Amino acid sequence: MKSLAVAAGILGVVSAVSTTAAAQVTPDSSAVVLLRAGKIFDSERGVMVPDQDVLVRDGRIEAVGADLAATPGATVIDLRGLTVLPGLIDAHTHLFYLEHPREDLSLGGIKALILEGTPLRTLRAAARARTFLEAGFTALRDLGNVGPYADVALRTAIEEGSLPGPRLFVSGPGLSPPGGQFPGIVWEHNALAGEEYRIVRGPDDARQAVIEHVTQGADVIKIYADNDPNPGYLSMQELDAIVAEARVLGVPVTAHATHDRSIRLAARAGVDAIEHAYEVADSTLALMAAQGVALVPTDLDSLSVFRYIERSGQEMPPWEEVEAFLEPRRERLRRARAHGVTIVAGSDNYIDFGVPQGEAAKRVLFAYLEAGMPAAEILQAATIRAARLIGDEDLGALRPGAHADIIGLEGDPLEDFTALERVRFVMKDGEIVSGGP
Ligand SMILES: [Zn+2]
Repeated sequence: MKSLAVAAGILGVVSAVSTTAAAQVTPDSSAVVLLRAGKIFDSERGVMVPDQDVLVRDGRIEAVGADLAATPGATVIDLRGLTVLPGLIDAHTHLFYLEHPREDLSLGGIKALILEGTPLRTLRAAARARTFLEAGFTALRDLGNVGPYADVALRTAIEEGSLPGPRLFVSGPGLSPPGGQFPGIVWEHNALAGEEYRIVRGPDDARQAVIEHVTQGADVIKIYADNDPNPGYLSMQELDAIVAEARVLGVPVTAHATHDRSIRLAARAGVDAIEHAYEVADSTLALMAAQGVALVPTDLDSLSVFRYIERSGQEMPPWEEVEAFLEPRRERLRRARAHGVTIVAGSDNYIDFGVPQGEAAKRVLFAYLEAGMPAAEILQAATIRAARLIGDEDLGALRPGAHADIIGLEGDPLEDFTALERVRFVMKDGEIVSGGP
């Protein structure tokens, strides 16, 4: 061991010297890319801007503007046939968990823990992460159902370049009332829930859970304000303890909350965002808007509902029935926007729809469109707003200093939203993932 360490030390010195020597001879221009971008999406203002170029150096955007000069040796890529956007962000994914429409959370969750296991889950998660990148998502916030911090490991592997994938912001196991989201588990096997969720027992334990997670590398604390389909709730004292400790440690908190009561309690505690909010009163939406609590509406579009029904083997219901099922969620999205709640895009996609998971997740943007959200606002929800919620302002915008996470679509999504299905160019961290020269 010792001799290896010495050898590594010598190698380190040698490579440091040679890098310096190379830098002194000629600057490395291979990392400079000039995108003749044409039409680009200004996510801050929510508008398209024509005739723009984007200069990328060492993974960052150096300049954006008309007729930028190409640095000698820069790679020039013509994207003027496409519409150029910041890379998309999905603020609610589950890379480590995929459920067939014939299963439920208990069956799927127990299968994942006992028959699949962490190594296989992680390998599959890595493959799914790649489908997101190919679909134009350059960053994801992955929110639990990951076993014991396998999400942290995957984030590290992608970050160091061992695997292709979007940037990951991860939560570790979600903090939940007893039972997690596994309804119907008999008492003698109750401990299983604790393998997939961090079960919280009182305010002191809640505080400990936050410290454990941050110590293990979590970027965000995911909590289950309610653990629907189980009947539990985190108490006000537990919620307060979690938010207080997370503030001290500088990590955001996001709350799974499907019912009005749990949404209200979590908003009152000061979480950064509410996930789902399927049933929510106007007064609670007003509280969220006043407190600056974002909403991540993890909604299905009509195509996903049809795919789900088809794969579950049920008889296809009439169109009106599907619309009637979807309308309450659309209506609450309209109410949330009317109250001034910030909407951030997140799919919560964990269903096997028979298409690559990145494509399945993207349907959430179409769900927002079906609810009447303007296309420009949807793009903002999936770029700059998601970046702000995640807490990385260098994402979600095409501006000097930002990460060079950039995609190109065939068509303009403000005129034809289906352009989002036609991702023809993906760059992450200044490196071309697909669609290059
Ligand atoms: Zn979820």
